[in-house]
Amino acid sequence: MRWNRFWILGLGTLFTCTFFIQAKNNPVTRKQDKPIRTIIIDAGHGGEDPGAKGSYSTEKQVTLEVALKLGKILEENMPDVKVVYTRKTDRFDDPRKKAQIANDNKGELFVSIHCNSTGKIRKVTGYKTVYHRKGKRKIASKQPIYAYYPSNAKGTETYIWATSKNNAKMESLKQNSVIVLDANSEETKQLMDDTDPETFILLNTLRNAYFDQSLRLSTLIEDEFTRVGRISRGARQRNEKGIWVLSATAMPSVLVELGFISNPEEEDYLNSGSGQQELANCIYKAIKRYREELDRFTNNRNSSPATSRINTRSNSNAAMLKPGKPTKNQPVPSDSYCVQLMITDKLYKPGASIFRKLPGDINRQSVVMNKKKMNKYMWGRFKTDQQASNALRKARKLGFKGAFVTNC
Ligand SMILES: [Zn+2]
Repeated sequence: MRWNRFWILGLGTLFTCTFFIQAKNNPVTRKQDKPIRTIIIDAGHGGEDPGAKGSYSTEKQVTLEVALKLGKILEENMPDVKVVYTRKTDRFDDPRKKAQIANDNKGELFVSIHCNSTGKIRKVTGYKTVYHRKGKRKIASKQPIYAYYPSNAKGTETYIWATSKNNAKMESLKQNSVIVLDANSEETKQLMDDTDPETFILLNTLRNAYFDQSLRLSTLIEDEFTRVGRISRGARQRNEKGIWVLSATAMPSVLVELGFISNPEEEDYLNSGSGQQELANCIYKAIKRYREELDRFTNNRNSSPATSRINTRSNSNAAMLKPGKPTKNQPVPSDSYCVQLMITDKLYKPGASIFRKLPGDINRQSVVMNKKKMNKYMWGRFKTDQQASNALRKARKLGFKGAFVTNC
């Protein structure tokens, strides 16, 4: 069922993005490539930050070994994919630096590798008699004797960012120009203005797509672990320390907890060459399955004329949307222009006083944003872009600061 939801949401996202981008710009058609061309592998912790500690090893050592093994398998089996490591040595980097490496390299998938741990378990092994004074009396009391044992918690977990971090993820998408635009155009300034409702919708849609993709990959990783006999504690959402990087990276992102370094049995497994190889293999197989699924989706999508105008960075649901001015060879989707004045929850009649200085028709459309019913107001029908830009200037002068030209 989850998978169905993935497709439905994916397709929904695609059409929504297409709709908004087409409504607002004229995207440049580009050759489509294989989905996922750059994968970022992040070995958790490093250098002065050892991460969790086992009885003889540290998390930073295990994560680095598995990250390097995973990278090697990817490089050998997916030669068309560029593998970028956040670290290849025992080095400490601020998580912000790691996110920056991922974003600067325009990663299309971020896999962060960690180990779990729990505190020791306390058990009562016997009792001792302790005496203390109360006034002149000496009172005896029984007190438990404790012994501490390693916790037997075991198994793998794969995390995606918690939905409470949705705004942070959206901010990362915005900051990292996942939507790549013609930097000097008026539309760009308009589109990257997050008070603009369409930008908000676009980023929101993109984030939802990444969320579903991350969730799908996390489920596949846990599935692969189960196949080799690991105990899976499931794909989860987390909003704790260490997970920040998931919302700071402008791409689908997961955090894999390979096992419990605090459990002696798992510590041995995590430190063994064969265990590390098995873990890396599982993650690789999950990435492969994920990529094949995206690829099938891309092929479906490419056959759809409604979506052929969109250019994406990953060919996944949504990514780099590059609008531009139509060239001579490109059809202009509509021969008339409107000025979109605003989107607001307020309801105005076409003859309302705020539109009084705008000659021509005012059209209202109902739109739903963030589950809220809103009203979109469009002005006029202009034959040439010159007329439309004159009208836009006028609308902005009259106080419709967020107005822009769109095809009607
Ligand atoms: Zn960690």
